[in-house]
Amino acid sequence: MTNKKEIEFSTGASSRGSHQLGAALSCEILWALRYHQRLRPVASKPWQLLGTLVHTCLAHYFASLMDEPPQWSLDETMDENLEREGEGNPEMIRQAKDCFEAFKMRYAGDSWIPLYVENEFKASIGSFFKHEEMPEWIEPVKDEVVTCKVDLVCEWGGRVWVVDHKTSSGNSRTGRLNSWGSGSEYTMSPQVFQNLWIIRSCIDRPVAGFAIQRLKRSTPYDFDRQTLQLSPIAYDKARYMIADATLRERDIKKRIEAGEKPRPNYNQCYSRWGPCDFFSVCSADTARIQSSLLDTEYVQLGGK
Ligand code: SF4
Repeated sequence: MTNKKEIEFSTGASSRGSHQLGAALSCEILWALRYHQRLRPVASKPWQLLGTLVHTCLAHYFASLMDEPPQWSLDETMDENLEREGEGNPEMIRQAKDCFEAFKMRYAGDSWIPLYVENEFKASIGSFFKHEEMPEWIEPVKDEVVTCKVDLVCEWGGRVWVVDHKTSSGNSRTGRLNSWGSGSEYTMSPQVFQNLWIIRSCIDRPVAGFAIQRLKRSTPYDFDRQTLQLSPIAYDKARYMIADATLRERDIKKRIEAGEKPRPNYNQCYSRWGPCDFFSVCSADTARIQSSLLDTEYVQLGGK
């Protein structure tokens, strides 16, 4: 593999988060390429880059409101961070900053008090269970550590909330965000469940729940924030899903390291977010083309 470079601080990347466990449950090839070989596409989709840049602005903004800002926010200014992440895309950096300025105006005098910004939390699977309630099948992975990196944990109305920023294109007809409806898109989200299980294991204050801060990323700007009404039953069962995914991941890794090829799941190649990051590789005509694509179109994350 050639053409690989180390990737520095970025919003969003968690070392062993819900996306990784989700990949283990959905497609072995996806898991192997993305989390075993640690490959990422060189070119991100334009809307993804804009979303990343808006997240970067928000991360620096909320970090700057803390009494003790996290080290990453001191190592690099917001502008330096944007320049690096948006290299070669000055127009997109400008759009992200415009959206961010509109956000600041909309929430001037905000009551959110940031407690953690872009912080990675870690917890063992065993910490999700009282000893007597842990089924035997979970024992082998009880010491495995799972992680989440959340946009923001803040105090809001005297309670602690986990917040995820979501940028969206909004509704082309009304120019506003799409109506929130029941928020069902997020109420059964593995990311929401995993983050809450981990953060509740890590923080010594009660965590009230999960909130979504939505931002329409183009003019006319529109913003809203909503708390999620999660099913207590689904939330409770999510810890079993996390354990199950970890067992599955362990099995895939063992087989790959024994020389077996990971198996595809073509049900997962195309979602409402568009094609899987490795769509062009898996749909190539020959192994040679696949290898060439992997060499030229992907970078490898640094570290282990
Ligand atoms: S394109 Fe399909 S088969 Fe290939 S990694 Fe993605 S989900 Fe798996």
